Amino acid sequence: MSKIYDVIILGAGPAGLAAGLYTGRSRLSTLIIEKGSDGGQIAITDEIENYPGQMPEGESGPALVERFTKQAERFGCERVTDTATKLELEGRIKKVHCGDTVYEGRTVILATGAHSRKIGCPGEDEFTGKGVSYCATCDANFFENLEVFVVGGGDTAVEEAMYLCKFARKVTLIHRRDELRAVKSIQERAFNTENLEFMWNSVVVDLEGEGVLDTMTVEDTKTGERRVIKADEDDGIFGCFVFIGYLPNSELFKDQVECEWDYVLTDEDMKTNIPGVFAAGDIRKKSLRQVVTAAADGAIAGIQCDHYIQENFSHEE
Ligand code: NAP
Repeated sequence: MSKIYDVIILGAGPAGLAAGLYTGRSRLSTLIIEKGSDGGQIAITDEIENYPGQMPEGESGPALVERFTKQAERFGCERVTDTATKLELEGRIKKVHCGDTVYEGRTVILATGAHSRKIGCPGEDEFTGKGVSYCATCDANFFENLEVFVVGGGDTAVEEAMYLCKFARKVTLIHRRDELRAVKSIQERAFNTENLEFMWNSVVVDLEGEGVLDTMTVEDTKTGERRVIKADEDDGIFGCFVFIGYLPNSELFKDQVECEWDYVLTDEDMKTNIPGVFAAGDIRKKSLRQVVTAAADGAIAGIQCDHYIQENFSHEE
């Protein structure tokens, strides 16, 4: 008979690895399934400086995540590189299909994270972390007194643009239409923000630079006219923050667990609507998506798996 794990964790980002640390320490047999490399979004983050207790001088995302991984391993978590293709979550024993391989578990923690929608223009990938950013809370500091552009017109773009105004000399919000999608209350605050300007009917079509982002081409969506924007010579760089939607990695299970905007709904114990199925990190509907909140979610989900197993399986073995 194949092994039945106490806990199967989908995703080895900060939420999944923190969950594994807690389930491992609770002596629960734990399998973490990750399709790529550990770390999720922080694996591609150049510098992290706001995770409490990290190297105070700042460190790269991969360096931080390496310690997450080692810590989870230390407490006995198994890890496989595999892609989940189908989930059976309703039964007493949950099944995670990865192609022909089926993993079985008493509980499942969904920690598959989310990813930012990209503009898709030339230079975007090359200058990510060198001017292009998808996280104001993470990177606003690096643009203290510089010029910043924000792409998008929804709640996130407008709120993040206002946040960036506290750091940047000037923020220009570039939106593809001539009115914002953001709710009126957020718009009102934005229009009253002194160093926030708007570039309407515009899309970014090219990002360039010498090592760092210093040139951007913007196209007028009405006339097709193109305009090249260059960084101030003294600055040598500007920021381009992209907030054109955030896409949760919930494709596999959004029709099985209760979601809102495709983000998984949980209670404060990370419980989903399905008994024995928990969610942690950016995949959840929540207000702050940071490493610290992902790790905290993972810890809670891990402990709740222990409670669930004690309540539901303790008489079996
Ligand atoms: P969103 O509401 O989907 O807005 C995405 C924005 O990006 C839209 O303005 C859209 O333009 C633009 N956009 C999309 N694709 C684009 C592209 N390829 N190039 C240029 N622009 C593009 O996303 P969000 O702002 O991240 O919000 C997601 C959900 O979270 C929403 O339901 C929102 O209400 C909610 N949310 C709520 C709060 C809050 O209540 N405080 C805060 C944040 C998020 P168009 O307008 O032309 O489509």
